[in-house]
Amino acid sequence: MTDNFDLEHIWHPYTSMTQPLPTFKVKRAYGATIELDDGRTLIDGMSSWWCAIHGYNHPELNQAVTDQLQNMSHIMFGGLTHDPAIELGKILLKITPPSLDKIFYADSGSVAVEVALKMAVQFWTAQGQPQKTNFITTRSGYHGDTWNAMSVCDPVTGMHQIFGTSLPNRLFVAAPQTKFHEEWNPQDIAELEQAIQQNHEKLAALIIEPIVQGAGGMRFYHPEYLRQAKALCEKYHLLLIFDEIATGFGRTGKLFAWEHAQVEPDIMCLGKGLTGGYMTLSATLTTKHVAETISRGEAGVFMHGPTFMANPLACAVALKSTQLLIEQDWQANIKRIEQQLSQHLVPLNQLDYVADVRVLGAIGVVELTFNVDMKTLQQQFVDRGIWIRPFGKLVYVMPPYVIAQQELSDLLEQLVDVVKTLQGAH
Ligand code: PMP
Repeated sequence: MTDNFDLEHIWHPYTSMTQPLPTFKVKRAYGATIELDDGRTLIDGMSSWWCAIHGYNHPELNQAVTDQLQNMSHIMFGGLTHDPAIELGKILLKITPPSLDKIFYADSGSVAVEVALKMAVQFWTAQGQPQKTNFITTRSGYHGDTWNAMSVCDPVTGMHQIFGTSLPNRLFVAAPQTKFHEEWNPQDIAELEQAIQQNHEKLAALIIEPIVQGAGGMRFYHPEYLRQAKALCEKYHLLLIFDEIATGFGRTGKLFAWEHAQVEPDIMCLGKGLTGGYMTLSATLTTKHVAETISRGEAGVFMHGPTFMANPLACAVALKSTQLLIEQDWQANIKRIEQQLSQHLVPLNQLDYVADVRVLGAIGVVELTFNVDMKTLQQQFVDRGIWIRPFGKLVYVMPPYVIAQQELSDLLEQLVDVVKTLQGAH
């Protein structure tokens, strides 16, 4: 099944070139179905890593791309502008925290994070506090793979040790411990409080994924953590950056995860589901205050301007995807998915090698007590007609919102069956 050229020459995410994992060649995808080259079909449980919220090959999204293609696929953003960027901006400002007012479009989630970090540093320099250049974050976080984004990822799962001193040293505190549905434990904020108290003079910002820590462990934590973190940022003069690249666009049951806590950040990063998974685009939003302060600084400008900034094709499809989402009863749909996920997955808690099962919005996670063998498990899933890519101890699903009830039941039944066969595999 694996293509030889692919195997020998093309890198895949986090893989070895001497012992590459098998890959499955895809011919097409539509709705929640992935069709392989050999004709087999798989029910998609991954939304291509949080992105394809409306599924694949969506007629309205296809149309938005086709229409935009007739005008221009790309045009430089220096000195020029266009409707897709403007109309997308209007809708984004309507659905994100009210205090956010300025938008920077970039190419990927990691770049949106780089932009956010740079904004924070430029903000403090402009405020006459050029020593505030470092960042604090929690463990188990994930913010992307470019240099500075990587520096604020969990140092263990992000393998910081292999980069030695080339990676900037950030301040890490323990990941939030109180789970989303548990009673808040006031001790949970103590370490962050102490670290900020002792280091605030050097800190530009706290960066955090609100409510759901994604690639760093699929952990769902208590909204009170964010309320207290915000209070600390205000008290000790740190900007608060929310990385909503994974959590955005309905995935957690709210349109954006900040709503669970009603805490507004100073800077917010969007990506992934922004274009419905059609192509790469991200946005970093900030307040008038931050943007104007940066603009009054010595440079007079914000120092970033990627070639493909606000790519019109990407903005056009993002606009359509966002409209599609908010014009439907997406809350009811996510609730439906959430209920189905709980109904099928929660009983797995009874297995002694299942450490935890958790569901929030359209995210379902089964945490095992041991690391899975990704290669074997992936093959088993494919043999059973489902697409799920586990990592570490986690078998998790985040299906496209268009997945039909029957498709989701089939997907989950197969998943549950496979997890049950792991008995004795550890
Ligand atoms: N932040 C979060 C929370 C993410 O989940 C990701 C992607 N997994 C990123 C940033 C990086 O986005 P990208 O892969 O588009 O660079």
